Amino acid sequence: MAEHYKPQKYKAWEMTLEERFQEVYPPFSEREATLEANRCLYCHDAPCMVACPTHIDIPTFIRKIATGNVKGSARTILESNLMGATCARVCPVDVLCEGDCVLGADHKPIAIGRLQRYATDYASERNIKFFQKGKPNGKKVAVIGSGPAGLSCAGELAKAGFEVTVYEKKEMAGGLSTYGIVVFREPVEVSLKEVKMIEDMGVTVKTGVTVGKDIKFEDLVNENDAVFISIGLGQVPEMEIAGEDLSGVLDGLDFIEKTKVQALDSISYGNRICVIGAGNTAIDCATIARRLGAERVTMIYRRSEAEMPAYHFEYEFALKEGVSFMFLTQPVEVLGKDGKVDGLKCMRMDLGAPDASGRRSPVPVEGSEFVVPCDMVVKAIGQVKPAHFLKMLEPFGVESVKGYIKVDSDNRTAHRKIYAGGDCVRSHGEASTVMAVQDGKIAAKAITRALVDEAALAKK
Ligand SMILES: Cc1cc2nc3c(=O)[nH]c(=O)nc-3n(C[C@H](O)[C@H](O)[C@H](O)COP(=O)(O)OP(=O)(O)OC[C@H]3O[C@@H](n4cnc5c(N)ncnc54)[C@H](O)[C@@H]3O)c2cc1C
Ligand code: SF4
Repeated sequence: MAEHYKPQKYKAWEMTLEERFQEVYPPFSEREATLEANRCLYCHDAPCMVACPTHIDIPTFIRKIATGNVKGSARTILESNLMGATCARVCPVDVLCEGDCVLGADHKPIAIGRLQRYATDYASERNIKFFQKGKPNGKKVAVIGSGPAGLSCAGELAKAGFEVTVYEKKEMAGGLSTYGIVVFREPVEVSLKEVKMIEDMGVTVKTGVTVGKDIKFEDLVNENDAVFISIGLGQVPEMEIAGEDLSGVLDGLDFIEKTKVQALDSISYGNRICVIGAGNTAIDCATIARRLGAERVTMIYRRSEAEMPAYHFEYEFALKEGVSFMFLTQPVEVLGKDGKVDGLKCMRMDLGAPDASGRRSPVPVEGSEFVVPCDMVVKAIGQVKPAHFLKMLEPFGVESVKGYIKVDSDNRTAHRKIYAGGDCVRSHGEASTVMAVQDGKIAAKAITRALVDEAALAKK
């Protein structure tokens, strides 16, 4: 690999490879947490609580930190959100809880996410167990997929006394929290500790089991009182351009996964990398490429800066990391030499009339082709929808909407025993960890109501 050139302001390269992949935001010390907690006004009808999709009692957990009851604070958080440690790290707080903090109008909003991390880490480091399996109610539930939606549903059901088994196709449980969130935002251990917490509540987690391959979906429906589907979405879709099969063209999710499960110095990367896409996954790919040591990382997006789907704070982070952006640019062919990537042929775009998404659609500019020299191309243009799984659900009458599983407000499908939640049902709006957690809670509540509460009423 050619010697890397170091731009003066790129601090990350002054650190060791391991240091570059430590959590970007350091944890609060006790003093910092107490000072920050004491800034909170403990609003009545706090808007931050409404803005949090899991409705954590934020003023109460912050007040408990201020009074030194950190264990009690962690309990308050986890009572509403079992994945509180992950959410503390990954939630887009600017547009959720902190975005609605009343102090934000004139001062800095309270650092709710970092305080949440302080409390949940306190409990996790001391192995404090808050919840246990409820009194057995004699009902069984299968959960497919162990991401935030599946684990949240499983944990809530365990509290209500259900016998729950989670089936996970990967080697490790945790879904994208384990494999997809960049390691400097969430280390793998944080996610695995949450999995352990759910197992300690009496949930069985079977990894390395693909439903539809190793075990029949039909059998799960027949052998359980309810099934919760939380399979997320698939890999990055094909770009459908020539040269996509060349060595050096990577799936963005695979690239991120390597940095979570492999030794960092064993990961190969290019010196001049093009990342296709401008969502949060693309930003993650671009920033890890820089932190690995890539000299030039360019994000290529066919619309303009105004339409880019990444959160603004993510965009700013990428700019600080020295990532370059090419807007209004569409890749048309990956060029190769000796079977390896040697460049990316692109075309300039203009913005035309708004399309179905409401955003102005990109229109190619005739004769505007040009080549971006590069030795690696990372595809990060979203994730494929669960078409294969939907086929399996057809005989059960489960419906779909825009390629996602269709559910009602209880997260129940058209089949009375089958529920679903998380990314696989999110046919519109942003997909996020905290929303997946809430989906799991909603389904667990509905399953409990249908199988325990209504059954008890019917007996009376
Ligand atoms: C790169 C990336 C970065 C992200 N960053 C953020 C962020 O910063 N903040 C944020 O809030 N959100 C972020 N998200 C979104 C967030 O990770 C998801 O919304 C969340 O993980 C969805 O949870 P889930 O449980 O629905 O699915 P997942 O987390 O995808 O979990 C689904 C699980 O189901 C398993 N599975 C699939 N099919 C089967 C089968 N047939 N049998 C058994 N198991 C199966 C999968 O292996 C997986 O473990 C990011 C997503 C990506 C891709
Ligand atoms: S779960 Fe997320 S949105 Fe809710 S309070 Fe915690 S950091 Fe904010």
